[in-house]
Amino acid sequence: MTASKGRILQLQNYSVNDGDGVRTIVFFAGCPLRCRWCANPEGYTGQNNILYISSRCICCGRCAAACPEGVGIDLNDPAERAKCTGCGACVDACLENARKNTVTEMTVGEVIKKLETQMLFFRNSGGGVTYSGGECTSQPEFLAELVSEAYDMGLNQAMETSGYFELTELQPTLDRIDLLFMDIKHMDPEKHLHFTGVSNERILANIAALGQSREGIVIRVPTIMGINGDDGNIRATARFVKRHLRDPRMELLPYHSYGEDKYRQLGMTYEADLFRTPTADELSRLNAIIEDEGVRVVSYK
Ligand code: SF4
Ligand code: SF4
Ligand code: SF4
Repeated sequence: MTASKGRILQLQNYSVNDGDGVRTIVFFAGCPLRCRWCANPEGYTGQNNILYISSRCICCGRCAAACPEGVGIDLNDPAERAKCTGCGACVDACLENARKNTVTEMTVGEVIKKLETQMLFFRNSGGGVTYSGGECTSQPEFLAELVSEAYDMGLNQAMETSGYFELTELQPTLDRIDLLFMDIKHMDPEKHLHFTGVSNERILANIAALGQSREGIVIRVPTIMGINGDDGNIRATARFVKRHLRDPRMELLPYHSYGEDKYRQLGMTYEADLFRTPTADELSRLNAIIEDEGVRVVSYK
């Protein structure tokens, strides 16, 4: 086991949404995409971004006094935010919990130790570990070491990924993953570029290549009315999945706005007006379209 460190947003135990049984989700920091609805915008850059929760702030000034960069109290003023290096000194200084670090550096051994505390739950439920983010493949070396250690422990391993990675580099890691959740956020390359910052070409090519070479893939669509939740896009997605996966399976994940507060706490703008959660009727109709195309609808919720 090496001492290389990964940048982790969070380890979340007792999850039942991202694979079989009871799972621990390892949220990696860093993502090459910039989805405008992202629920974890603190994970965009891979660096420690400080949340400033102004409703808790009593303006005592301890953070400003501790800051080596001369950042003032209002970290969400763009000029102040631009000076911040994410060193975390103000988080230690604040007694009101009004500032929070978002990234923790952990070795593979430290993550494995946390997973070991959950073995009883994994064994009793058929669960294991799920790598998520951010985008877990944005730290390929750390991910490879962690996956290798967990594989040697016999842990069930799942991965949630945007699919935007260098396949040749990642293949040995993916070979050790039991269940792969891959997103298709839009079938139209230009709309994909507009809403996520990258084209879908690499993602679709990776899904097509993996779909031919392995089983255990579920295609997920974060379903957002106004963006990708129209019948045409869902049908096109299902046709692609049917054509390229040996065991074609899809799961629609209805959009939620849980990340909205974090945008405020990072001084970022959230475009709430662009997005709408699908109704139960709309979801049923979209799931019927998927099944009509010969793709199995699955649910890990
Ligand atoms: S130390 Fe905390 S409570 Fe005091 S001004 Fe800074 S953010 Fe506000
Ligand atoms: S994280 Fe460091 S640089 Fe950023 S505001 Fe806090 S003390 Fe200043
Ligand atoms: S791929 Fe996921 S983590 Fe990355 S920006 Fe999009 S929603 Fe956020």
